[in-house]
Formats: sequence, C-alpha cells, structure tokens
Amino acid sequence: MPGQDIHNKKDINEIYLCPVCELILKNPCQLPCGDRLCQECIPALIREDAIFKCPVCAESVHTSNLMVDKGFGRDLDQLEVICIEKRNNCEWAGKLKYYQDHLNNDHLNYSCNLCQEKFATPIALNEHKECVH
Ligand SMILES: [Zn+2]
Ligand SMILES: [Zn+2]
Ligand SMILES: [Zn+2]
Ligand SMILES: [Zn+2]
Repeated sequence: MPGQDIHNKKDINEIYLCPVCELILKNPCQLPCGDRLCQECIPALIREDAIFKCPVCAESVHTSNLMVDKGFGRDLDQLEVICIEKRNNCEWAGKLKYYQDHLNNDHLNYSCNLCQEKFATPIALNEHKECVH
C-alpha cells in the first residue's frame, strides 16, 4: 500500500509527499541523493540488479543504499491531517499517527466485488485487486 491520502494534502509541506504516489509518505526511505520515497513505492521502480533511478533527480540508487528514515517518520506522525472522507461528512481530524487506525475502524467502505474483503480507501481496494486477483 502506498502513501496515505488526506483531505488537506494541499496544506501539507511537499517535503512530506511522496513523488511516486503523490500521497503522504509512508515508511519514508531516504535515498543517497536526499530525496525520500515510501518504502512500498520503491519495488515498482527497480529495473535490474536492485538498481533504480530516483524519480526526482534521476540519480541511480542501489537498494542497499536506502535508509528507512525513522526520524522523519516521527515528524510525519505529528502532522495534523483531515480525513479524506471529509467529502462524505467525516469530521475526523488529528495526528497522522492515529489516522490509519481511524480509517481501519471507521471507513471500511470499499469492498471487493470479487471476494467481499473490505477496505478503507479506493487506493487500498485497487492495490488489493491488483495483487490478489
Ligand atoms: Zn509513495
Ligand atoms: Zn534524488
Ligand atoms: Zn474519517
Ligand atoms: Zn478481493
């Protein structure tokens, strides 16, 4: 699952957005060039021999040079976000840290038409369909 979608994405500093999925970074990995991507967004970029090109600056990166950026992850946790389901009248707002729990508990609105499994976001549902079916 790539980054997280929120209602107030346009108010969030772009350093917190993933250049691949254009959502809030999830498990941010820092590349040697200094750019950051979601951990889950990286496998799709790898072409051969565990090497991929940074989508921001085009520098070649070997996957062994990736660093999960825990400090940055803690900064992300503190971001004040508004639930993507605000468009459907959800009033939830809070720290990103608690957002996934909120989605998991309150928004299992999207169910797979093939196996009936439920998901919190259309993105998660699409991922599921691509991976499982
Ligand atoms: Zn991403
Ligand atoms: Zn880069
Ligand atoms: Zn909500
Ligand atoms: Zn399914």
